[in-house]
Amino acid sequence: MYIDLSFYKELKERFKAPGDFAMAYVVAHEVGHHVQTLLGTSQKVHALRSKVDETSYNAATVKLELQADYYAGVWAHHQKNAGYLDVGDLNEALTAANAIGDDTLQMQARGYVVPESFTHGTSEQRKRWFKNGYKNGTIQGGDTFNAKEL
Ligand SMILES: [Zn+2]
Repeated sequence: MYIDLSFYKELKERFKAPGDFAMAYVVAHEVGHHVQTLLGTSQKVHALRSKVDETSYNAATVKLELQADYYAGVWAHHQKNAGYLDVGDLNEALTAANAIGDDTLQMQARGYVVPESFTHGTSEQRKRWFKNGYKNGTIQGGDTFNAKEL
């Protein structure tokens, strides 16, 4: 797993999402991608790249990313059960998820949003899927690809 450590500085200073659990959320999200690789989900999405138009591919990528957020929530669920979560930890993760939603980032960068270009999901979606994982605590509940609502 590779994490650009300067992103943590950005998370704290530019995105105003400080805290150890904000950082843990980022790691858990990346581990979520590893789980997706083990399950073959990442490969399925990446194979679409040459088969569908960019908007459809972006939509599939959003599902992959929201599932990684869900898996991060599953991890957080088990950390809580093991007694490792401090008061405020969950909010640190949600603040981070909120800060790096596509709509929030695009609004900050250019003052408007282009939903077709989203690759990670909105702030609301990222928070919600993390929370879903945190609530459920199981991999099975995170099928963003067949969810009625993303
Ligand atoms: Zn990701």
